Amino acid sequence: MTTPLLSTAELQALDAAHHVHPFTDTGALNSKGSRIITRAEGVYVYDSDGNRILDGMAGLWCVGIGYGREEVVEAVAAQMRELPYYNTFFQTSHPPALALAAELTRITPAHINHVFFTGSGSEANDTVVRMVRHYWALQGQPERQIIIARKNAYHGSTMAGASLGGMSALHAQGGLPIPGIHHINQPYWYGEGGDTDPAAFGLARARELEQAIQTLGADKVAAFIGEPVQGAGGVVIPPGSYWPEIQRICDEYGILLVADEVITGFGRTGAWFGADYYGITPDLMPIAKGLSSGYLPIGGVLVGDRVFDALADGGEFFHGFTYSGHPATCAAALKVLEILQREQLPARVKNHIGPYLQRRWRELGEHPLIGEARMVGLMGALELTPDKAGRAPFKVPKGTVGLLCRENSFSNHLIMRHVGDTMIIAPPLVITDAEVDELIEKARLTLDQTYTQVKQLGYC
Ligand SMILES: *Cc1c(COP(=O)(O)O)cnc(C)c1O
Repeated sequence: MTTPLLSTAELQALDAAHHVHPFTDTGALNSKGSRIITRAEGVYVYDSDGNRILDGMAGLWCVGIGYGREEVVEAVAAQMRELPYYNTFFQTSHPPALALAAELTRITPAHINHVFFTGSGSEANDTVVRMVRHYWALQGQPERQIIIARKNAYHGSTMAGASLGGMSALHAQGGLPIPGIHHINQPYWYGEGGDTDPAAFGLARARELEQAIQTLGADKVAAFIGEPVQGAGGVVIPPGSYWPEIQRICDEYGILLVADEVITGFGRTGAWFGADYYGITPDLMPIAKGLSSGYLPIGGVLVGDRVFDALADGGEFFHGFTYSGHPATCAAALKVLEILQREQLPARVKNHIGPYLQRRWRELGEHPLIGEARMVGLMGALELTPDKAGRAPFKVPKGTVGLLCRENSFSNHLIMRHVGDTMIIAPPLVITDAEVDELIEKARLTLDQTYTQVKQLGYC
């Protein structure tokens, strides 16, 4: 274990002097100082002041197997000694990339037998855009360009990823979205369903896809993309009626279905993939995060037979990354897949720890500050509201109370994230019953404190 030689204040000053953070208001951060995480073990991270913090977000949704797994470190070190880097361009391959491709496609749905490697989830979604349009060009339908996505979706931060995503704050910077992306409404019942019954709402939101296809022209639409459960948008769990209807519409109009599995892949929902959980058969599945449990950066696009067969006969696909199939990252992912299978972590989420955390999480739904407590597998949300019955917002700008709640949570040594006034968690898949109890206790304390402050500050 390495303890930094510098004090927290010195580390913060260095950070402020030279480091530009992702998704961060730099001025606001530097007036306060960043939180410095120095090491981690199991489900806990440790900061530069020695505090032990329960990581309710598994890093950024990725550390499924938990921190400090020595066998991943060993596998990566061994691979780096053997072959630290080689590319997979120019008719070349290497054992870690081909082994990972074979292993991955063994656990995917039966119609998915190939993978294209990338360095991240964003690159995976950039790959999706080019692959989908290239597929239709190869079919002799190059005018099929439009990809239908959803408002408040998150598909990454590159030009194509952020364009597919439906977050207006991202679109407002840098001239997005790129042409040929169309956004429909999301299946967010709590926030947008009003008095409609959830099942009817789910159907109505799915049918917006059909309306969009008819309006845009069925011969112009290439694909639909969605996260099986929206993550960064606030753990939006669609009503059960939603995905079967999306599948029906994609089938009926022959458009490609893309399930962004970057968060929902690798056991997060209790199934291997969100597609398995909802019983859908996507043509493409972008993956990243849980694939390597975050130990090294790797992503990819799982390619179904329909698209692969066309690509295989279609000449050169002019697309790829220097680090596509990087040997060390593949070695990390291979070991992570071995651990997920050996410890049966998806089944553990489905049968044991998921149901336990869900039950305890729903208890928090009784709290006076909470309008809804929802969870699928090990990803959940709490809707903060001053008005349980009416689901009304607070009197202050959206996100004010969420941020307050997040700061309280950090002070209580629990990492929860806020999206507006929605609190979200996605802990490592290895979390134990006792650690779940600790998570719930800290979350409850956090809600109590936030509730008191909200009343004192006149926010409700
Ligand atoms: C995080 C995320 C991405 C982007 O992945 P990066 O590795 O950050 O580029 C894409 N899609 C979804 C659903 C994500 O949650």
